[in-house]
Amino acid sequence: MTIETSHNIASPQTEEGVIKYQVQHTAAELEIPTKVFAQLSSWRSLLFKLQLLGQNPNLYGGLAYGNISHRIAWGNDQFWITATQTSHLPILNPSDYTKVVNAEPLANLLFSEGERQPSSEALTHASVYQANAQAKAVLHVHSPAIWRQTEALQLVHTARHVAYGTPAMAFAVAAMFKQGLLTEQGVFTMLGHEDGVVVFADSLENAGLLLIKTLTKAMALAPELLYG
Ligand SMILES: [Zn+2]
Repeated sequence: MTIETSHNIASPQTEEGVIKYQVQHTAAELEIPTKVFAQLSSWRSLLFKLQLLGQNPNLYGGLAYGNISHRIAWGNDQFWITATQTSHLPILNPSDYTKVVNAEPLANLLFSEGERQPSSEALTHASVYQANAQAKAVLHVHSPAIWRQTEALQLVHTARHVAYGTPAMAFAVAAMFKQGLLTEQGVFTMLGHEDGVVVFADSLENAGLLLIKTLTKAMALAPELLYG
């Protein structure tokens, strides 16, 4: 239910410290469905415990990292995503999820509604939903284990010169789908974004399980990670 509306074009200072895209955000009180919120909360909590998202003073200049999203309904590309400046929080409130109502990744433009502006990497999430009608959930995490094993695990990846959350990333993601490198569910790493990994699937559970499976494969290749 919208109780207050104000439009503004702004470039948010991101949790990872770089201004990326233009967002037209409508301030509104929205009600994320209870069931979706519960599922997102449980998976996000697990990812936080595994330090796949969060904040570490010794990593990435101390900036918070990682975000998750969930398509609202089949047949359109709207989705819920964690709001900006929330990755460091162990538990989120329903108001910490923002609705992306439209996105034009190649034009660097995003339209959102909610109490807070969306995550800085919402554009990359939007690219996955637009390129893959089967994607129901997208997880962006930071995993040194998976990222460093990109080659060994033969993971699809974006190039080192492509920065996260940019139109160039949106273009690269679309290209991976067009080339058939990514299909209905999958994992890709972003070599231009340290430790950056994206996982998507036809359900949040399948995306989470795919991430955990990929993480254990990476750990099997680098036993020193068992002690880290
Ligand atoms: Zn990131």
